[in-house]
Amino acid sequence: MWISQITPRLRGVRDPLDSARRRTAFRRRAAAALLAVALAANAVAIVWLWVHGGNLHPSSTGAGLTSAGRLTGLFGAYLALIQVVLLARLPALERLVGFDRLTIWHRWNGHVCIDLIVAHVVLTVWGYALVDKIGVGSEISTMLGGGIYPGMITATIGTGMLLAVVGTSVVIVRRRLRYEWWYAVHLLAYAGIALSWFHEIPTGNELVLSRIAADYWRALYLVTIAVLVFWRVLVPLTGALRHGLRVSEVTPEGPGVVSLRITGRNVESLRAHAGQFFLWRFLARGAWGTAHPFSLSAAPDGTSLRITVKGLGDHTARIAQIPPGTRVLAEGPFGVFTDDRRRGDKVVLIAGGIGITPIRALIETMPGDLIVLYRVVTEADVIFRAELDELCAASGAVVHYLVGDHIGAGRDLLAPAHLLELVPDITERDVFLCGPPAMAAFIRKNVREARVPRRQVHAERFALI
Ligand SMILES: Cc1cc2nc3c(=O)[nH]c(=O)nc-3n(C[C@H](O)[C@H](O)[C@H](O)COP(=O)(O)OP(=O)(O)OC[C@H]3O[C@@H](n4cnc5c(N)ncnc54)[C@H](O)[C@@H]3O)c2cc1C
Repeated sequence: MWISQITPRLRGVRDPLDSARRRTAFRRRAAAALLAVALAANAVAIVWLWVHGGNLHPSSTGAGLTSAGRLTGLFGAYLALIQVVLLARLPALERLVGFDRLTIWHRWNGHVCIDLIVAHVVLTVWGYALVDKIGVGSEISTMLGGGIYPGMITATIGTGMLLAVVGTSVVIVRRRLRYEWWYAVHLLAYAGIALSWFHEIPTGNELVLSRIAADYWRALYLVTIAVLVFWRVLVPLTGALRHGLRVSEVTPEGPGVVSLRITGRNVESLRAHAGQFFLWRFLARGAWGTAHPFSLSAAPDGTSLRITVKGLGDHTARIAQIPPGTRVLAEGPFGVFTDDRRRGDKVVLIAGGIGITPIRALIETMPGDLIVLYRVVTEADVIFRAELDELCAASGAVVHYLVGDHIGAGRDLLAPAHLLELVPDITERDVFLCGPPAMAAFIRKNVREARVPRRQVHAERFALI
């Protein structure tokens, strides 16, 4: 039996967990403030280094360009380190922001970072050429081949690697690339950042001048490396040894959809919550090479975890063939699509297609007045019908199955007017919505058009990029 826990609900009574939620919200605000202070403090330190390096009053156009190049270089390197930390799987950061929002920040930070690095290259070469009174071409060959500026060749290779990452991330190229190739190229960014390091202290005006400045710069890199190695290497490895997770059961749920029950040691110490997801790596032939995100489709019961996967691509199609007994590496839990994000007692849970997985888990544990809207294209796409009916009947929640295509009669399903018809008090409710990216975006837009305040909308889109 998948249904592990059903919490009785008292309609209209204030949630007894309210004060716990307020405490969580307070802790989140405090952590956000701390993070902002740490980021700002380093930014101020960098500007101070730059001013201290005598860049504020350049004596000529060439010196002015070089000064601007130094500032963009310092900030470009700083943002590159932030870029690494953003996806270092830092639990505090993940709990604060959410994995999906971190990936969006990562994308935008990456854009600004590369712009600054390109500006650094252009401004510095141009400025030095003017100061040295030679052409840009000659300046480049002096910088690369003259032996005057150490680390320039490695830095140039590093910059090339960063540009390759940007190239593969440009949407049009990205759509033509397999995810696995895109990901492999993306790993070059680490090498790019490492190679750029070699020219920073030996040639960076501000860092050459002061030992304290150079030590501060080294400390920034060391902390970033420590965070990366600890959270992305040591924690997953020790977790794998500690929990020894394995697939214990594979159950078909519908056409192309299977559930995997995963068991192991000390599963409760993973402290996973309904609504969260893990990055799963199955150590089976043809599957072990990549880790994929899948949400828990049942609330954790302390001894096992369940996921439910729809075969939509090469990896997900193989999941049904994974034999029981297969070892599993799981990174997580991640995500803030959880009960503690809600603001009131009344909730609408909206699932689009396979987005039902975390919604199904949330129904199991969410107290309060719940309405569930489950949108699918055909009857055959409905999974968990018996479980959903049983859970909702037991807890007094209402569930609506909304079946229809997107072009014919089904076009108006979950349109703002339809949402208001199904849930007249939707503006007073928290809305948790989940689905594949296009569906999640469409439902979110309609929910907002139905005038649900932004702070009451909590979305999980099944895409990290
Ligand atoms: C937070 C989250 C929770 C999810 N929960 C579920 C779930 O419960 N059930 C379910 O069936 N699906 C879920 N998904 C979607 C699932 O992760 C993708 O469908 C799956 O990774 C696609 O892999 P593929 O090789 O089969 O497909 P492909 O056709 O190779 O890829 C399709 C798209 O999936 C994404 N993708 C592919 N590989 C990866 C990867 N290794 N890591 C991240 N994204 C990747 C890319 O955007 C890619 O364009 C979830 C996604 C996210 C982000």
